[in-house]
Amino acid sequence: MKRRNTVQRSLVYEMVNRLKSHATADEIYEAIASEHPSVSRGTVYRNLNQLAEEGEIRKILVPGGADRYDHCCHEHYHARCLSCGRLFDIEMDYIADLEKAIKDAHGFAISGHDILFNGLCPACQHRTEHE
Ligand SMILES: [Zn+2]
Ligand SMILES: [Zn+2]
Repeated sequence: MKRRNTVQRSLVYEMVNRLKSHATADEIYEAIASEHPSVSRGTVYRNLNQLAEEGEIRKILVPGGADRYDHCCHEHYHARCLSCGRLFDIEMDYIADLEKAIKDAHGFAISGHDILFNGLCPACQHRTEHE
């Protein structure tokens, strides 16, 4: 299979790596558009999906929020700030054995897992303390 390596694709890939912040597709588009106004939103979205499908970046599904894109491709966990909605990496070992702990998956073939912790990020903790 020949990998498509267009200019737009590298732009999108580089922006995800530059933002390093679990940005939403909209944030990535805004960042690219500020430097390259000719790149359309559809192009950015399409390339994000392609890069995620090919494992170049990770797409993180956030329940009740916009999907996030992560430059960090190894298995790792996240914490979501309930106040500002930002997503943070959590420093902890990936629990590869977690799936073995399942007693009965009701026939479901499990291929992996995500853990999303909830809480307040340092900046938001600081803000609430000083309000
Ligand atoms: Zn926050
Ligand atoms: Zn991450």
